[in-house]
Amino acid sequence: MDLNTSLEELSWIPRPRILALRRLALETAGDLLRHYPRRHEDRREFRGFPSEETIGPVCLCGEVAKTRLMRFGGRKIFEAVLEESGAHALSQPLTCRWFNLHYIQKMIATGQQLVVFGRVKRKGPRLLIDHPEFEVIEDDEEILIHFRRITPIYPSTEGLSQRVLRALIFRLLEEVAVAPADVPLPASLSNGEDENALRKIHFPRNNEQLRKVRDHLVLGEFFRMQMQIAAARAENSARVGCRHQSRGLLAEQFIAALPFAFTGAQQRVFNEVKRDLQVATPMNRLLQGDVGSGKTVVAIAAMLLAVESGSQAALMAPTQILAEQHYAVLCNWLDPLGIRIALRTGARQEDNAPLPLFAHLRGSDFNSPGGAEGDSAKNVPAARAAHASGSIGSGSARVSRVGDGVTPSRTFSQTDEAPEARYSRRRLPDFEKPWTIYAVTIGTKKRRCLSPKARAIALDALRYFHTKRYELFAACVMPDHVHFLIQPWPKENDDAGNVVFWSLKELLHLIKSYSAHAINKAERKRGVVWEKERFDRYIRSQPDLIEKFNYILRNPWDSGVAQQNEDYPWVWAQEDDRRKESSFPRDAETNTRDACATRKEEDRSIPHIIVGTHALLYEGVNFTNLGLAVIDEQHKFGVAQRAKLTSREPAPDVLVMTATPIPRTLTMTIYGDLEISTIDEMPRGRGEIITHLLTGDKLGEAIAFLREQLSDERQAYIIYPLIDESEKLEAKAAAKEFEIWQERLRPFRCELLHGRVAPSDKQSIMQRFRSGETKALISTTVIEVGVDIPNATVMLIENAERFGLSQLHQLRGRIGRGAHTSHCWLVSSDKSTETITKLSVLEKTTNGFEIAEADWELRGPGDLLGTAQSGLPELKLGDLRRDAGLMRKARQAALELLENDPGLDSPENQRFRDLIVERQGQTFSHVS
Ligand code: ADP
Ligand code: MG
Repeated sequence: MDLNTSLEELSWIPRPRILALRRLALETAGDLLRHYPRRHEDRREFRGFPSEETIGPVCLCGEVAKTRLMRFGGRKIFEAVLEESGAHALSQPLTCRWFNLHYIQKMIATGQQLVVFGRVKRKGPRLLIDHPEFEVIEDDEEILIHFRRITPIYPSTEGLSQRVLRALIFRLLEEVAVAPADVPLPASLSNGEDENALRKIHFPRNNEQLRKVRDHLVLGEFFRMQMQIAAARAENSARVGCRHQSRGLLAEQFIAALPFAFTGAQQRVFNEVKRDLQVATPMNRLLQGDVGSGKTVVAIAAMLLAVESGSQAALMAPTQILAEQHYAVLCNWLDPLGIRIALRTGARQEDNAPLPLFAHLRGSDFNSPGGAEGDSAKNVPAARAAHASGSIGSGSARVSRVGDGVTPSRTFSQTDEAPEARYSRRRLPDFEKPWTIYAVTIGTKKRRCLSPKARAIALDALRYFHTKRYELFAACVMPDHVHFLIQPWPKENDDAGNVVFWSLKELLHLIKSYSAHAINKAERKRGVVWEKERFDRYIRSQPDLIEKFNYILRNPWDSGVAQQNEDYPWVWAQEDDRRKESSFPRDAETNTRDACATRKEEDRSIPHIIVGTHALLYEGVNFTNLGLAVIDEQHKFGVAQRAKLTSREPAPDVLVMTATPIPRTLTMTIYGDLEISTIDEMPRGRGEIITHLLTGDKLGEAIAFLREQLSDERQAYIIYPLIDESEKLEAKAAAKEFEIWQERLRPFRCELLHGRVAPSDKQSIMQRFRSGETKALISTTVIEVGVDIPNATVMLIENAERFGLSQLHQLRGRIGRGAHTSHCWLVSSDKSTETITKLSVLEKTTNGFEIAEADWELRGPGDLLGTAQSGLPELKLGDLRRDAGLMRKARQAALELLENDPGLDSPENQRFRDLIVERQGQTFSHVS
């Protein structure tokens, strides 16, 4: 038996356990051994019960002396009083409490020995732990697995207790011969703990060994990540890009016309970008800078360099409001220079032909409709499969370059075996997860068999919303069920200025109701057509996507619904639509040259700069010659979206911008493959911002201050968080809030702004505020995005505790834009230390980086900015914050390794090749 052995082959694991493990995606021995402990408890010797509160959680062992269940109003509280084993006169009992968890009372009984873990608090005379983690000691032959050792505690798992899981892993470790870590480390990183690392991480001999083996495994994770990043970086520089040769006259004119001079930082960053644009290697640069630091003007100047050299430039923003604002700014500055600018936002792109998912395939054999293969019905399944693997696997120019000598991913070839077995039933997620791709199956009610006509209707329904509300990758309508791959899109005009996505639920409801009626009509039947949908799973990686994609496209043939040589018309992939698309000059390099040469007779209908939202991704037709793509607020886009905009030949230069500063350690992972430019200087003449914390009961002070400022001709924002989700309630809450403030600030003119205000009204409201007619704007967070009114110097944020630090920072960035000192009041009625610690960060600093660090510190690990979205390998053990030092080491080692041996050709480096090949399964934070 080895690590690849399937758990099913191990007869000693009972079937229900196998199923529970599979729900955790643990299929092989190796998977189970790499299900690392979340923490360990030292159960070799328990400490005595404390006599006071403890600062952190402690692990204690005692006997249950009594239990009781109490009711308080609607709440049920279950208590278990523990007594120390060798109790003496001074020892105090310890009470463990659980609120509203009825099942606990069935698990705990008087006389049991219990190990508990939690923080001890004092309440009156009693010492308490609320909701401790606990384990009942059962005195059986397994006791030595669970006690008298440093014991692993696993991530909590539905249907598997700690005890069961621990015993399974223990037994498994007895059966495998060796359990080394799975990532080879270069000598410079290794600390000698590789041998049997997996055994040691579960059941370490002592704390020293635990620490060392953890470091070792964390380094492995980090090293793999950094190898992929380093390789992506190397590869990007090998791509063919465009060399933007221009004298920079347009940019000069633009800069000269600005009413201010560039700050030193802006100038430096502009020079960096300029240098990148001039060389053939494609630029891949991140422009970081706090809100209001002036990134946009730098981006405009950069776009002008590209335009002057004969290319097009694109500016992509995450929301419609922001895109429109950029458009207005650009028109304002660039119309005088004769630059043609176009706007494409979701709302306006309904008629556009969809741009295929995998643009580079254009012109390949498969897509030439006249091709002998494509026409033969016999080859349809084969062609689809080939096409699928080719297209997704090499979804970008980057990957197809790696393709030299690299076989399709292993996952892909494995799917032939038993694809169905791997998808378990899941309930639909209620939450939305940005840019997630879901594999979904919808069955018909009572397995009703759909007629051919009905199948066509179902397929049309799916396609109808494609590129409008979601992206559909592939779909297949079987006689009694439908499989598809779907990626919900943002809803454009949401309330808070943040991107809100269509939820999968909404979308499925839409698809089902859209088709059900038509199907019933076509079949002259009545009643429910569709059964509850099944959400098969998230798509986690590129191979995963390929696998599911293929599975869907081959399903009719694989399942026997269609004969191997028969056509099955109810299967669809994005490429199918694309074949209809007009053929476009493919040689973009020639294009560039032509564009430069014939600049005088250029087509006046072609814009120089296209501004838009994600709708730009479907604007393939309009990019005759994309030379520079600027992506604003890039963290709000998914990886695939960026890739799509930029995976064309020659590779466009890419400038991504973010006003969300991130901790420096994260920069080397999430943005590890980008060059980084930072604008670390605010434009001169900006007034200081003073921030005050205020508890709700002292609101009067702030109001008096506000009135004073308003009589001084200043203006104010009052921000309140939205509490109710429903539209009606929301409008009501907003209106009420508004009335109260109007009263408080009388006679100064106030206006109300929220997401439900019609766009035209919104504009006039903003206009009146800008002109100073309105003195105070009562608003939701819609104003977060891009409002720039220098005379507004006061901001009062109600219920500030409800916002995250970064969002508060962004909001606060709306003031302090003029020369006057600005004031920000953070009002909160929550007096917990947690809230006060959080908010006082803002009191102390206005530096976005410091705020980001603090935010990270306070929130702990977790997904600060979507490492999940970055497409980087998942970290199971490593903690980007705590293990920053290890990350630096791993990065150093990976960069050195690839620098000295870019092809990993030397014999001792062969073993690292897998780390990079696996990258086919990954996508990156950057864009290639
Ligand atoms: P952000 O970095 O948040 O995108 P913007 O580019 O929107 O910032 O700039 C914020 C405001 O500052 C704009 O009104 C812009 O015109 C102005 N601005 C930009 N650069 C300077 C500068 N060097 N001096 C003075 N004002 C500037
Ligand atoms: Mg901006």
